[in-house]
Amino acid sequence: MVWFSVPALLTWLLLQVVWSQPAPETTEIDLDGGIDQDIFDINEALGLNLFEGDIKLDGLQGRNSIIGDNYRWPYTIPYVLEDSLEMNAKGLILKAFEQYRLKTCIDFKPWEGEKDYISVFKGSGCWSSVGNRQQGLQQLSIGANCDRIGTIEHEFLHALGFWHEQSRSDRDDYVSIMWDRIQSGYEHNFNKYDDTTSDSLNVPYDYTSVMHYSKTAFRNGTEPTIITNIPDFTDVIGQRMDFSDYDLQKLNRLYNCTSSLSFMDTCSFELENICGMIQSSDDNSDWQRLSQVPAGPNTDHTNMGECEDSGYFMHFNTSAVGEGSTAVLESRILYPKRGFQCLQFYFYNSGHESDQLYVWVTEYTSDHPNGTLTLIEEIRGSPADYWQLHHVSLNVTSKFRVLFQGVRGTGVSNGGLSIDDINLSETQCPHHVWHIRNFTHLLDTSPEGTAGRIYSPPFYSSEGYAFQVGLYVNGTSDNPFNLAIYLHLISGANDDQLQWPCAWLQGTMILLDQHPDIRQRMSNQRSVTTDPLALDSSSNYFWDRPDKVGSTAYFPNGTAFMRGPGSGTSAFLTHQRLRSRDFIKEDGVYILLTVEDISHLLSTQPSASPTFVMNNSSANTIRPTSTATITATPTTSTATSTTTTKPTSSTATSTTTSTATSTTTSTATSTTTTNPTTRLTTTTTPITTTSVILTEPPATDILDSCSDNPCENDGICIIVDEAPVCRCPAGDNWWYMGEKCEKKGSTQENTVIAVSSSITVFVVMLIVTITSVVCLKKKYSQGKENSENLTLEESKTSF
Ligand SMILES: [Zn+2]
Repeated sequence: MVWFSVPALLTWLLLQVVWSQPAPETTEIDLDGGIDQDIFDINEALGLNLFEGDIKLDGLQGRNSIIGDNYRWPYTIPYVLEDSLEMNAKGLILKAFEQYRLKTCIDFKPWEGEKDYISVFKGSGCWSSVGNRQQGLQQLSIGANCDRIGTIEHEFLHALGFWHEQSRSDRDDYVSIMWDRIQSGYEHNFNKYDDTTSDSLNVPYDYTSVMHYSKTAFRNGTEPTIITNIPDFTDVIGQRMDFSDYDLQKLNRLYNCTSSLSFMDTCSFELENICGMIQSSDDNSDWQRLSQVPAGPNTDHTNMGECEDSGYFMHFNTSAVGEGSTAVLESRILYPKRGFQCLQFYFYNSGHESDQLYVWVTEYTSDHPNGTLTLIEEIRGSPADYWQLHHVSLNVTSKFRVLFQGVRGTGVSNGGLSIDDINLSETQCPHHVWHIRNFTHLLDTSPEGTAGRIYSPPFYSSEGYAFQVGLYVNGTSDNPFNLAIYLHLISGANDDQLQWPCAWLQGTMILLDQHPDIRQRMSNQRSVTTDPLALDSSSNYFWDRPDKVGSTAYFPNGTAFMRGPGSGTSAFLTHQRLRSRDFIKEDGVYILLTVEDISHLLSTQPSASPTFVMNNSSANTIRPTSTATITATPTTSTATSTTTTKPTSSTATSTTTSTATSTTTSTATSTTTTNPTTRLTTTTTPITTTSVILTEPPATDILDSCSDNPCENDGICIIVDEAPVCRCPAGDNWWYMGEKCEKKGSTQENTVIAVSSSITVFVVMLIVTITSVVCLKKKYSQGKENSENLTLEESKTSF
């Protein structure tokens, strides 16, 4: 018998524990437990009995409605993202604001002391009041599982003044309420208003509204509670993808919107004026407006040839001109407001691979009134018999034109270059695009479950993390007839240089609605955020290095790599919705991917550095109902600036640390109280600024209780529930914790803690390890043969 020294044995066992981490197959967790919970399901499960399921009424409010200017907000709504919010929710709220900026005239800004503002916090469930209640702080709750963009848009539409669509006075003409199928006690949720209290703004009843209940709302069994009088709409009601056209029409009417902040132009070339675009005089050929070209395209992209006497695109016939000939199509002059733009368009190359399309920008400034020409992107590639979506990022700050320059190359061309469905907006382009072609064939032939799962090509985030998206075409075995989608970290070239576990990257997966006009798209999306302290079922860090917590997988060319566990949803989109709108067009779907660092949202919002003005006169109080007499006077507005550091630890603002073995200070999460009357903004240096909601105490007491800062290690004292609380500083891979920030923690320690707790069961682990390694190898070789053959078409990184 061989005897080991105890330390050597322990070390060896530790290594075994670490080696044993890879799971046998790719695992996935569902953000929402795999249940497609609508707002009302979430709130009902929490036992909330709010008005119409998700509306908070105040004492003054009867069945008042959007009628009346008093209930409107200014065009720019001040908001605060409270510390209690989950990080994924914070990122998504900002994304929802971007949709408002693109499609309406409503804008949002971080609160800077304005009288009325919306405090978005993580309460129980998803809910809002209706309209501007003129009460100073107005709460809007984005609770657990409410972190979906459609849900957030829905709640903010309440705040902007809208009731549910099915409570319109004329709803009985369009839907039938099945009263006997409604849970008893919930019937009032199906009340309707007469037209003196609710204004439908002369817009038709909208089955597609994001404000409509689904057919299952408040049901007592399995039968629907709402039946649409036009049967085709039975499964349409209850969509939570994005605003419908009528939602936007109503919102824009109520707020007299004439333009939006970030939309610039859309053109499908259906009108003969080609949206004011012009043929340049500096070239030797022209683009033509056509509906068909013999060598392709056979149809335009807008209508796919389905509409008679319409369906045009712009074409540069390279087969008819000599080598080096060019044709330039210029946009009209455009006026940017934000300084960054995304240009997107569909491109078809039926010429030769040497034919090229260049995208230029002419920018006009006072120094260069005739314009400066800048080449933005060169698009080349082999001819293909389909339209391809392209994104081009611009960063233009002065008035400008976009130029499409086609250039005839050296090779033999039988066709040419075509463009269609251009959209220009002042938004961020998606980082990556996954185009899946022959999608109906995939739908028809893919089995449900893992055998019908396909993976995207690998992509890199700008921070260097490699990732991949998995898509179940016909659903998971638990949840068939749905698209299921998951985001995985995978092993990549930079892994040794990166911080692990991966911290606070938000991955957004968008199934693109390919409507030609970006404002009318109702794309479906979900986001996942990498919480560095989240653990999997084996107490590994969920977002740790894929070669540590992942399993072996293979690219189509046979190269092995490690794929980490996936996070996403098995209820991404029903097939019924997938087949609606323009999700599938030219038999292809596009999945747009963006992975961005949202760690700057860890800090308390607003991130401006306000200063205090003690003021005993009531004339300058934030709001009349407040008993405190403090006026917040922010000196700067830097809320949009981002920090580039990437803390791996959850700082005191995180609310998602409950599963961690060693978390941050426990005092961190309770910053919100009910019925707040005053918001007090404290001044802090140098680490964070912070804001707190107070209930009753007079201002002098508030300041006194923190006056002798009890916090150590540069911790900041703030008041929560009338008691002083320390906010502790955190760095890249360390943080302070404890009531006074007296203890220091680090990622390193956490790893040790996690591993050493496993040692207590090392004997069992050891046996399991040895057995499972054998099984794993078998499974891998099988998996390689049958399930890793991908049917991916292609990928394209825009930039
Ligand atoms: Zn609602």
